[in-house]
Amino acid sequence: MELIDGKATAAQIKEEIAAKVRERAAEGKKIPHLAAILVGHDGGSESYVANKIKACEACGFRSSLIRFESTGQNPLNPEELFAAIDKLNKDPEVDGFIVQLPLPKHIDDQKVIEAIDPDKDVDGFHPVNVGRASLGLPAFHSATPAGIVELLKRNGIETAGKNVVIIGRSNIVGRPLASMLMHKGADATVTVCHSATRNLADITRRADIIVAALGRPGFVTEDMVADGAVIVDVGTTRVPDQSRKSGFRLCGDVDFEKVAPKCSRITPVPGGVGPMTIASLMLNTLEACRRREATAR
Ligand code: NAP
Repeated sequence: MELIDGKATAAQIKEEIAAKVRERAAEGKKIPHLAAILVGHDGGSESYVANKIKACEACGFRSSLIRFESTGQNPLNPEELFAAIDKLNKDPEVDGFIVQLPLPKHIDDQKVIEAIDPDKDVDGFHPVNVGRASLGLPAFHSATPAGIVELLKRNGIETAGKNVVIIGRSNIVGRPLASMLMHKGADATVTVCHSATRNLADITRRADIIVAALGRPGFVTEDMVADGAVIVDVGTTRVPDQSRKSGFRLCGDVDFEKVAPKCSRITPVPGGVGPMTIASLMLNTLEACRRREATAR
């Protein structure tokens, strides 16, 4: 078994981006600028946004963070959030921005996603980008699936003609990943499974590549995996762990210890898909900056 090192692959992508940004600076071109909106103090969201800002620094991007407080007693008025989105949509200095999800329950995630200008939607969640991507047209691709496709490509894992089984059909992972992998170029035969799938293990045992994206720690066990399969573990669940300073550890959807001896390649958690999601976001931001430049000419 060989590990698929997402951290190293993402570091290489960020170095390539940083080199392009240095070239842009030398040519007097605009430095890409990513903004992030963070509502409340969810631990996971805080750490994702901090990592995105750190990645901006590594790539030589500008970044800005807009924070809103929201508590049970004092919930954020959604109009304030929509006003901030409108301002970022119109700000010529900002090339792309994200609104970190999940939002507090009283705010409709989908309405928020649809309020973002599709040309600045570097998360690739807006229906315009999702639709264009599913038709194979130029679009911002959803960061996690785009990161998975790039991770496989850069690590020499062929998808053409392979049986890929994706567990999970969410709008941000399973569904767009299925679409990307079945497009010409990727050419995989894709099966998408979900909570109503029957005989899941029979399906996963026929897979050359399994992508686990369901958010259930240790769900994929060795009996579900064919000898020599490639395993991509998207899951990142915080499981309480008093032996850690943070009080938790990140768990993937795959029982790593048991599955690793059986498969040929496997992504670790952490250090697999997570860093690639951020690298994709950086690639989308660079692309947004280039596109804005091209349309301004
Ligand atoms: P989600 O929206 O909750 O979707 C979970 C999917 O898994 C649903 O389609 C659900 O089926 C399916 N599912 C749940 N239980 C199942 C079961 N027993 N058998 C088969 N399918 C089952 O989750 P998500 O947002 O896609 O996230 C999935 C995981 O990936 C989470 O751990 C999340 O933290 C992680 N994640 C990681 C990154 C990263 O960058 N590393 C990015 C995004 C997400 P139904 O549709 O039938 O309910």
